[in-house]
Amino acid sequence: MAGLAVEKIRNVGIAAHIDAGKTTLTERILFYTGRQHRIGEVDDGTATMDYLREEQERGISITAAATTVDWSGHTVNLVDTPGHVDFTAEVERSLRVMDGCVVVFCGVGGVEAQSETVWRQADRYGVPRVAFVNKMDRVGADFSRVVEAIARRLGMPALGVQLPVGKEKEFAGVVDLVEMKALYFDEAEDGKVVEAREIPNDLREEAELAREAMLETLSEFSDELLEAALEGDVDAKVIRKAIREATISCSLTPVLCGSALRNRGVQPVLDAMVYYLPSPIDRGAVVGRHPSRDRRVRFQPDPSSPLSALAFKVTVEEHGELVYVRVYSGRIREGLPVYNVRVGKKERVGRILRMHADKRANVREALAGEIVGVTGLKLTMTGDTLCSRNNQIVLERMSFPEPVISAAIEPRSQSERRRMDQVLEILEREDPTFHVRRNEETGQTLIYGMGELHLEVVGRRILEEFAVAARIGRPEVAYRQTIKETAEREFVFEKTIGLKVQRGRVRVRVSPSSTISGVKIDNAAGPDIISRTLAEAAEEGIRFAADGGVGFGYPFIEMEVVFEALREEDGSQLGYHGAAVEAMRRAVAEAGLVLLEPRMRFEVHAPEEYVGDVLADLAARHADIGEMVSAGGIKMVRGTVAVSKMFGYATGLRSMTQGKGLYTMEPHGYVEVPAAQRERLGVRVLGG
Ligand code: GDP
Ligand code: MG
Repeated sequence: MAGLAVEKIRNVGIAAHIDAGKTTLTERILFYTGRQHRIGEVDDGTATMDYLREEQERGISITAAATTVDWSGHTVNLVDTPGHVDFTAEVERSLRVMDGCVVVFCGVGGVEAQSETVWRQADRYGVPRVAFVNKMDRVGADFSRVVEAIARRLGMPALGVQLPVGKEKEFAGVVDLVEMKALYFDEAEDGKVVEAREIPNDLREEAELAREAMLETLSEFSDELLEAALEGDVDAKVIRKAIREATISCSLTPVLCGSALRNRGVQPVLDAMVYYLPSPIDRGAVVGRHPSRDRRVRFQPDPSSPLSALAFKVTVEEHGELVYVRVYSGRIREGLPVYNVRVGKKERVGRILRMHADKRANVREALAGEIVGVTGLKLTMTGDTLCSRNNQIVLERMSFPEPVISAAIEPRSQSERRRMDQVLEILEREDPTFHVRRNEETGQTLIYGMGELHLEVVGRRILEEFAVAARIGRPEVAYRQTIKETAEREFVFEKTIGLKVQRGRVRVRVSPSSTISGVKIDNAAGPDIISRTLAEAAEEGIRFAADGGVGFGYPFIEMEVVFEALREEDGSQLGYHGAAVEAMRRAVAEAGLVLLEPRMRFEVHAPEEYVGDVLADLAARHADIGEMVSAGGIKMVRGTVAVSKMFGYATGLRSMTQGKGLYTMEPHGYVEVPAAQRERLGVRVLGG
C-alpha cells in the first residue's frame, strides 16, 4: 500500500437509525471486499464489527471500530458509528474524522428519529452524504416515498440514482440510472457476482423518466452536464462528475437502494463511496490554531506538509493502549516521536496498525488522509492533537455532553479497591462521556454516564470483561447546582490543627452566568501580594467547593468565581484552603442555591395504534410534548422531559408497544428542581 495517493482514500462512516441494517450492510462490505471469507450475521451474533459481547446480544453497535477495506483501486476506511444516543461520544468522534458518510434508511420506516439526529450532526460538521434505502425486500418498502421523505424532512435535495427492480418479496436488483443497466446479484455466490443486464421492459419507461429527472436536477449544478444534455449525448463519466461535485458541496444527496440481508445492491454502495464521496484532498486544508500564539494555522492535506493528526479514540487493551489516529497532513512513522500539544511533550510512536475489526496489519508509516491505530502513546487522550514540535497546531477539540446519570460503585472487599480504581481509570480514558468521582469525605465512588444503557454496558464490562468484584448501585440523576444572584464574601480562617494555628484570608465573588457551561475561576490578585503557594492553596479550595464541596453537594455549573487571597500574618496552605472553602460556602448560600436536574430531548416512534398509551404515559412522566408527525402508520412524538422521569423507559415502551416502539434521547440543558421535590429527595445544604 506504499505510495498510495491521498485522492484514492475514502474515510467513510456508516450511520443509521437502530435496526435500519447498518451492521448487516457493513458485514456484506467486508465480505465483498475480500476482508472476510464468510458473511457474519447480526441475528446469530457472528457479526465482526460488533466485537463487544454486549453488542452481539443486543444487535446494536456500541463501539466505533475503524476498518480498512480496498475497493476498485481505492482504500476505504470504514468508521462504524453507534445507533444509540446513549453513545453520543462515539457518534461525535466518528463524525469528526470521517470525510463522507453513508446514511442507511429502512425502506419501510423511512426517516426515523435517529436518522434525523445523525443528519443534523453531519450537517454541523459539513459531512457529504450518500443515502442507502435498505430492506427493499420487506412488505411495505417504498423507494420513492423514502426519497421524498429525505428531501422533505431532512431538508436536502435527494437524488434517486437507482430504481428497484421488483417489489417486496420479488425485489431482485436495481436499475442504475447512470449507466442505464439493471444490476442483479448472484444468489448462489452470496451476491458476490454482479451481473449487468438490459433494463426489463416493464421498467423501461419509468427508468427513462427517472433518468430525465435526474439529469434535470444535475444540470442545475453542472454546466458541462447541461451542455451535454442539450446535445443529447451525456456519458456516465460526466454524470458521475456532476453528482460527485454536488454531493461534496453538500448540495444534494444521491440515494441508492437494496437489501443488505438478501445481498442485493451492496456493491453499488461501495462504488458510490468511491465515485461520490470526497477524498481527504477534497475536504481541503486542515485548519487549527497555534497553541500559544493567537493565530490560525493551515496545513495542506499532503504527506509532505507538517504533521497534524487527531487522536479520536483510545482503547486500553492487555498489551497497552491503542490510540486511533486520523492523520490530516504530513506523516507518522514507526519509532519516531510526535509532539502532543496538550501535554507539551514528545511521545514515541510504537507500532502503526491498519485495522480490520479485531485483526490488524503492521505498517511502517501512515500518511495524510489515513486512519490507523498507534501503540506506544501513553499520554495521549481522546481529542488530543499530534504534530511536530517545530510546526505546532491544535485541531478543534470534540465536544461531549455532560453525563446525566450516576451510580455508586463499591468493591466487594477492600483488597479489590486498587484493581477497581485501575479499571475505572482505563474506562475513563477510553470513553470521554464516562466519568468517575470520589467523595473524599465518605470514601464513596460514583460513576457517571449518558443514560441507563450506557452505564449498564460499562457496568457489565467492569464486572464481566475486567472481572472486578464490585457492587454497582441503581442509576441516579446526576444533579448539578447553580446560583441565582451575585454575592461576595470574605472569610478569615483561624483554627488550631495539630500543634499549629492555621491562618488564611480569602475574598470571593460568585455570579451566575448562562454563557459558561461549567465554573470559571479567576484569580483577581490585587495589590495585596501573597506567596504563590498560598494563592494556589486558595484556588484549590475554590475548586473543591465548585466541584460540590459546598451547597447541595453537587458540581456547580453556569457560575463565575473571582477570588482574591488576601494578606494574613503567619498564613498557611491549610489556612488559605479552609478560608476559600468557607468563603465559598457563605457566598453561594447568600447568592441563592438552585438544584438542577438534566433535561432530555426525546423522540418516540410508535405505530398509531399504541400512540394513545404512549402519550398518556409521557403525560404521567410530566413530559413537555413538542411536535407530533405521522408517516406510514407510525407516529413520531418529540419533546423534553426531566431525566429522572425517564428511568426504565426502554422497558416501559417495549411493553406498551409490544416491542414496536423506538425512542432516542439526548441531553438538552437543565431544569430547576422545585424546593418541595428537593426536600422529598432529601437533598440538603452541606454543613447547614
Ligand atoms: P443496525 O442496528 O442498523 O446495525 O441493524 P442490523 O444490521 O443489526 O439489522 C437489524 C435487523 O434488520 C436484523 O434483524 C437484520 O437481519 C435485519 N435486516 C437488515 N437488513 C435487512 C434487509 O435488507 N431486509 C430485511 N428484511 N431485514 C434486514
Ligand atoms: Mg448494528
